[in-house]
Amino acid sequence: MSDKLIPYLVPPEDIIPGTNVEYATLLKNGGPEQLGLYATVRDGRVIKLEGNPRFPNRGRLSALAQSALQDLYDPDRIPGPRGRDADGFVDADWDEAIAAVAGVVAPGRTVLLTGPVTGSAAEFYAQWAEATGAEWIAWEPLGLEALSTAHEIAFGIPGIPSYEIHRADRIVSFGADFLGTWLAPVELAARFADARNVEDLHHAKFTHVGPRLSLTGLNADEWISVRPGTEGIVALAVASEVARRKGGGAAARLEDVLSRFTPATVAEHAGVEPARIEHLADELASANSPIVLPPGISGQAAGSTEAHLAVTLLNLVCGAIGTTVRPGVGPMRGISASAATMRNLVERMESGAIDTVIVAGANPVYGLPKSLGFAEAYAGIANRVSLCSHLDETAAASNWLLPANHELESWGDAEIRPGIWAVAQPVMRPLFDTRQAEDVLLSIAAATGRSSFEVEDWKSWLEAAWRASYAQAAPDPAPFEDFWFELLQAGAVQRSASQPDPAPTLAPAAANYRFNLPDPVSGLTLTTFATAQFYDGRGANRSWMQELPDAVSKAVWNSWVEIHPATAEPLGLETGDLVEVRTSAGSVTAPAFLYEGIRPDTIALPLGQGHTQYGRNAQGRGVNALDLLDGTVDGRSGALAFAGASVEITAVGRRGTLAIMQGSDSDLGREIGELMPVDDALKAIGGHHVDLREILENAWDSDPKSPYRWGMTIDLNACTGCGACVTACYAENNIPAVGEELCAQGREMSWIQIMRYFEQTEDDGFQTVHVPVLCQHCGDAPCEPVCPVYAAYHTAEGLNAQVYNRCVGTRYCANNCPYKVRRFNWFTYEHPYPLNLQLNPDVTVRETGVMEKCTFCVQRINRAKLDAKAEGRHVQDGDFQTACMQGCPTQAIVFGNLKDPASAVSKIAKGARAYHMLGELNTRPAITYLAGVSHARLAQSGHDEHGEDNEAAGDHDPAAEAGH
Ligand code: SF4
Repeated sequence: MSDKLIPYLVPPEDIIPGTNVEYATLLKNGGPEQLGLYATVRDGRVIKLEGNPRFPNRGRLSALAQSALQDLYDPDRIPGPRGRDADGFVDADWDEAIAAVAGVVAPGRTVLLTGPVTGSAAEFYAQWAEATGAEWIAWEPLGLEALSTAHEIAFGIPGIPSYEIHRADRIVSFGADFLGTWLAPVELAARFADARNVEDLHHAKFTHVGPRLSLTGLNADEWISVRPGTEGIVALAVASEVARRKGGGAAARLEDVLSRFTPATVAEHAGVEPARIEHLADELASANSPIVLPPGISGQAAGSTEAHLAVTLLNLVCGAIGTTVRPGVGPMRGISASAATMRNLVERMESGAIDTVIVAGANPVYGLPKSLGFAEAYAGIANRVSLCSHLDETAAASNWLLPANHELESWGDAEIRPGIWAVAQPVMRPLFDTRQAEDVLLSIAAATGRSSFEVEDWKSWLEAAWRASYAQAAPDPAPFEDFWFELLQAGAVQRSASQPDPAPTLAPAAANYRFNLPDPVSGLTLTTFATAQFYDGRGANRSWMQELPDAVSKAVWNSWVEIHPATAEPLGLETGDLVEVRTSAGSVTAPAFLYEGIRPDTIALPLGQGHTQYGRNAQGRGVNALDLLDGTVDGRSGALAFAGASVEITAVGRRGTLAIMQGSDSDLGREIGELMPVDDALKAIGGHHVDLREILENAWDSDPKSPYRWGMTIDLNACTGCGACVTACYAENNIPAVGEELCAQGREMSWIQIMRYFEQTEDDGFQTVHVPVLCQHCGDAPCEPVCPVYAAYHTAEGLNAQVYNRCVGTRYCANNCPYKVRRFNWFTYEHPYPLNLQLNPDVTVRETGVMEKCTFCVQRINRAKLDAKAEGRHVQDGDFQTACMQGCPTQAIVFGNLKDPASAVSKIAKGARAYHMLGELNTRPAITYLAGVSHARLAQSGHDEHGEDNEAAGDHDPAAEAGH
């Protein structure tokens, strides 16, 4: 069969071949937060997602949100409706499937189970349930019920507060991973960077209180290590001390509540020195604008509402409520049932009270602990219907599959903040024979004969809802069509006046609350935590997420068990050894990861892996840490306890597979990742400037006649190690994921690696610096003179270029590169359909035998140059950004023209914290790093006088063992 190329006779107005078109839309399920974005579409297919600057995410996206592209193009999506016969799923047609499902939607015996919903869809689902007589339950596995309940108790204001970290001069977190997985990490990371922008001559000290250093904890200046589940009583002890120091109305009202909790009374329970609690109270009491964040998912134990309430009271006595913590005006995720509600649903399914469950956008068979028995109860009911787009564990256990469009193929809206609404529009036609979930529900309702809907499809329903509210809001409005068109371009609108801050008056219930002092525990305690890659497990079939090294362990494609070296030693465990972890609920076996950032009495496992279904990259990877949870829920909010179970560990006596993408935990004093004390940084800024530009302006580095010398700055004070830049680079530059085995052999293809180095402090602790490492585009590049075929060469604009079709694969360049950033294609990697549709047509897809590395997004440079040339000018700041710069939530990366004295990059590169990586080699890199800044007292050097390594955390070097 031959293919024919047929030109458009009448081209569609929004497709100009070879030209990108951007559509504003909303990612409701891109992770913990709802994110506004622009989808870049080329010739009818979306190839890149970038943040919409009108949204609280300030134009940035997380790594997980960027990987939604791989979710859209997932080869393992359900391609069309399916029924089930004795041998498994069989093809069905839509009419047949809808009629069959409508026939079993019995009033009072049917449940519609969705993910959390805000906006018009909430009204739609409620109306659908009423029309069909079904019950609607919206459920979020990593919900925020405890936080919302605590604020309702404290102030009578349910919902999520806004955490205004950027206004704070002192930040304390009781465990929330707010830079990685909790609440709104993209937004909060930007706010965190604002609070610590040392160039503005301030740098809020950050203390992390909890049993384990998460991605967020690694960015703290100080760690107060407490037992899992004791965060609440420690917060009360700190509050008691702050109240004693500050006094005031709140302190007086809470005297009875707080007086039982002193540093001395909680110290033994929490396993912490009383002096550390007193010191923290001193700092909070003397701060002008403090903020305290609550425990996140990993700190959610039985009694988690009390822990959140304790932190709320601490904020109150600190004076943070109403200033840095604004109740009720934070991010909205919508109605969400708790684990307790889900347990009740299981009981009703078991009792035979429910015949039919329709699941849309949720995966409870995987996302609830086994001990709750959802899978068995679901298998026991007669009619199990999945409207999910992927064959996840719940879909696989269903008997009808009516696959929904991906959210990038869907219409919708959401309330993202009180009064602020955003719209979602399809950015491309559906790839498979799928339908919008709401359209499927409309068809089912119509087929039951009980529909009260007056529209035929969801888009009409949505538009009608907006039309009605638009007419109501503006009595003499401009045509609705104009408003709607502009809204679809902008992505969001303020629909009702922003609510004034509700008066945060302490409710009597909180002022008289009787907190419990838990019984002291001994032995090992479990905590589980979400990761930036998988969150609740939704990223597990995306190879970009499997291959994005975890910020803490740097492991890929697997699960691991975090154990303190002192706990591992008696068992003879080393990183990579298999260990069995047991609780009363069950056991799992996974490789150990020895980590100084966890308490010796605590064991931690990541969530999100261990799928039994869900696709080729997810299935069989790692273990499901939920199997260890016994289904304990918080008595007040019904939130699931992710921490606090007693746990035992046993060495299995075998090595497992654990590919760790970092060679050494220390930079061995070689000036790779630099940290400087905050006082030194503040003194230096505005004073002496490091003059690196003498080197960079040398004619060697670019053609003197060229107006450009492209360069980059990376601020290690701003970099949190989130990995968003890494995923942005994968998406933009067609970087293949190679799998666990090749990663373990050091054959990963990532053009950017985030190195995580530990630096010792004087008190025997450690500080972490995250260092994005990529091709430095050296002016005097060691890779260039050794290439026998001139494949590595220097452009007139100072780029270190690589000519793919000249490269013969000797790899001399990689051997001679001191930064180890060159990647060799050992194989031609596959992009199974439809993943190939995501490939960026502006970037070559490389094949076996070719060397590659960061190009500084040369395709974006060239496009910007062409556009500028058409306007008769040179490229200037703001014309374009590299993908990594664009994706970074904290704006740690700045790219531009070093020859333009007005460019941001040329100014930042002259800063007092500037240095070149391995500067003594005189390679004249185009990348200038700005040293990280810490409040800790740093030890002088990572080397002792004998030249031996002083690794702060984990003496292991598994990657070296694996051949790195
Ligand atoms: S530089 Fe990369 S890893 Fe660092 S904060 Fe920015 S996106 Fe995250």
